[in-house]
Amino acid sequence: MTQAPIISPIIPPIVVSGAGIGGLTTALCLAARGFSVTVVEKRTKLEEVGAGLQLSPNASHILIRLGLGKALARAACAPLSLDVRRGETTDLLARAPLHMMQNRFGAPYWVVHRADLQQILLDHVRGTQGISLQFGRSLSALHHSDQGLEVTITGTSQHETVTAHAVIGADGLHSDLAMLLGDTSKAKASGYQAWRGTLPMSAVSPAFEPQRTTLYLGAQAHGVTYPIRGGEQFNLVMVTREKAHEAGWSRTGDAEALQRKLKSWTALLPLIRQMPDWQVWSLYDRAPRQRWSFGRVTLLGDAAHPVLPFLAQGAALAIEDAACVAHLLAQTPDNPAQAFATYQQIRLPRATRVQETARKNGSIYHLPFPLTLARDLVIRQKGGRLLEDYDWLYGWK
Ligand SMILES: Cc1cc2nc3c(=O)[nH]c(=O)nc-3n(C[C@H](O)[C@H](O)[C@H](O)COP(=O)(O)OP(=O)(O)OC[C@H]3O[C@@H](n4cnc5c(N)ncnc54)[C@H](O)[C@@H]3O)c2cc1C
Repeated sequence: MTQAPIISPIIPPIVVSGAGIGGLTTALCLAARGFSVTVVEKRTKLEEVGAGLQLSPNASHILIRLGLGKALARAACAPLSLDVRRGETTDLLARAPLHMMQNRFGAPYWVVHRADLQQILLDHVRGTQGISLQFGRSLSALHHSDQGLEVTITGTSQHETVTAHAVIGADGLHSDLAMLLGDTSKAKASGYQAWRGTLPMSAVSPAFEPQRTTLYLGAQAHGVTYPIRGGEQFNLVMVTREKAHEAGWSRTGDAEALQRKLKSWTALLPLIRQMPDWQVWSLYDRAPRQRWSFGRVTLLGDAAHPVLPFLAQGAALAIEDAACVAHLLAQTPDNPAQAFATYQQIRLPRATRVQETARKNGSIYHLPFPLTLARDLVIRQKGGRLLEDYDWLYGWK
C-alpha cells in the first residue's frame, strides 16, 4: 500500500471521470500529492483493447517517478533503433538510435502492450491509499456550491450526489464532460483507418528485425512494427486511407481487403498475410479545443486534445497532463480554479503543437507516388539524425 502525504483531511475528493491511461495516471499523480480521488468509469470493467503503444521518455519518466518503472520494464521493450523502410521493398532509408534516449532524456523509449500498461496502472491504483475506483458509473450533472462542486454520479441502479473539490474529465475523444460544460463540437472522421494485429515473436522472420521499431512508408499507406510483452509478441499497425467511415474502437478487419490495398508492398506482404486477425478502427481528429478549464472543472488527455497517432503521443500527452495538473493543484490546493487556469495556459500550446505535428506527419506518411520519392530521399539524407529535431517533444519535464 503506497502512503501519500495528507494535504488536508477536510478537502473533499477530486472526481476523475474516465479510467483510461489519462484518468488512472491522474489518480496516481494526485494521490502521490496527498489528494483523495474518486475515479468513475462508465465501463463495467477494463477490456484488453488495442495493441501496442509507444511510450517516449516525456511519458516514461513520469510513470517511473510514480513507481511503475520495475513493472513496466518487465512488460515493455526498449528497441535499439527506429528504422525507416520503404513499404514496397523494405529497403532501409534511415536508422535512428533509440537506446540513447535514456542518456539524453533520463528515461527510456519503451514500447508496450496497451493492456499491460493499463493493468500496471490499475494494480497501482488499487494499491494506493486514497483512491476509490468505481466501475459502471458516470458523472451525469455538476452544480457549483459553497463547499466546491455537487456532482451527480449515476450507476445502473442508483444516483448519488457527492461534494467534489474539483472534477477532471479524462473521458476520452467523445468526452461527455465537455458536453456537460457546453462544448458540443464533435470529432470528425480523419479519413485514416488503422489496422492492428499481433503475432508471437517466434513466428516472425528475423529478416524483419522485429526487435526494432520500424516505420514502413509507402504511397498513401504506412505501417509500424515493434516488439511488445517483454519481446514475446510482435505488434504491427498499418494505416490506410478509407472511403467509407465506420465508428468504433475496434472491429474485425477484412484481411483480403488490406492485402488488396497493399498489393505493391511485395516484400512485406508475407508478414501481413501471417496475421490471423486484424482489429480495425477509423481515426478521428478535431481542431484543438480553445478552452479546457471551467472554474473547478478541467479536461485532460483525449477529452481535451485528441491526437492522430502519427507521432505516437496521445497517451504520452495524457500522462504529461496528469503530472502537470497534479503538480499545479498541489501548489494551490485551496484554489483548484487557479490551478486549472494555469494548467490550460501551460498545456494548450504544447498539445496544439503535438496535434499539428502529428497531422503533418500524417500527410507526409500518406503522400501519393511520385511525391514519395522526394520524401524518401529527404529521410535517407537525414539518416541517423532523424529524431534530432524532437528534443522539444521527448525532453519535456
Ligand atoms: C492506432 C492508434 C495508435 C496509437 N498509438 C499511440 C502510441 O504509440 N503512443 C501514444 O502515446 N498514444 C497512442 N495512441 C493514442 C492513445 O491511445 C490515446 O491518446 C490515449 O489512449 C488517450 O487516453 P485517455 O485516457 O485520454 O482516453 P481513453 O483511453 O479514451 O480513456 C477514456 C476512458 O473514459 C471512459 N469514459 C468515457 N465516457 C465516460 C463517462 N461519461 N463517464 C465515465 N467514464 C467515461 C472510457 O470508457 C475510457 O475508459 C494511439 C491511438 C491510436 C488510435
